[in-house]
Amino acid sequence: QAGTDSATVNSAGKGTLRVVQLYPRDMNIYGDWGNALVLQQRIRWHGYTPELLEYNVGDPFPDDVDIIVGGGGQDSGQLVIQDDLQARAGVLKDLAEDGAPMLVICGLYQLFGHFFKTRTGAVIPGIGILDVETHGTEERLIGNVKVATPEFGEVLGYENHSGQTTLGSGVRPLGSTPKGMGNNSSDGHEGARYRNIVASYLHGSLLPKNPAIADFLIRTAAERKYGSFVPGHPDDSYAELAREHAARRPR
Ligand code: GLN
Repeated sequence: QAGTDSATVNSAGKGTLRVVQLYPRDMNIYGDWGNALVLQQRIRWHGYTPELLEYNVGDPFPDDVDIIVGGGGQDSGQLVIQDDLQARAGVLKDLAEDGAPMLVICGLYQLFGHFFKTRTGAVIPGIGILDVETHGTEERLIGNVKVATPEFGEVLGYENHSGQTTLGSGVRPLGSTPKGMGNNSSDGHEGARYRNIVASYLHGSLLPKNPAIADFLIRTAAERKYGSFVPGHPDDSYAELAREHAARRPR
């Protein structure tokens, strides 16, 4: 330790924001790592100092967590992490209830819910932070997705999952799907929102094409840690290019 207090705003910048990637070794497909990289870069552009940490099965859980980001994985990856995730349920719940911003994609979205019952009937228990449940099906929902959201405008991404998620009354959907399926093949909703958690099926990765969500996570992290968020001058030109390409793709 250099003796600096990470909660102190120093003259060189606006302070540090610590991003913890959950299980990148086992839960990280279809480019989900890109979400962590976008957070790192946009934190810099906003004038804060990013710290990017990885948390894998068996690691000590880091202190001073400001943003949690977790990706998708095969059912097999979910089986590998399930016990460790249960052991970390308490700390993750406390962070969630305390307003820590989190982004969880696909496989970790499912396990932040009550349970994921796989196609073969195995039940992988979730940690119940999100009031959702997921059932494996024979149908695979694959393709490009557009989500109309009240908070982040039009969200673009790519889905590939056979688990289908239904939302309970304790969460609200991220949005509705004019293109693609999202949570399941029947109700036209995608993702879930609870406190400062954004949960979504969208890979591809999500944040490079949807910087409004990245900035929501950064803003809420800064407000929780420092009491306010002072935005910088992010370069949105790459995001705009990525959105143009994504918007043109067929289903
Ligand atoms: N294994 C889960 C499913 O197929 C999650 C897949 C994923 O994370 N892409 O539903």
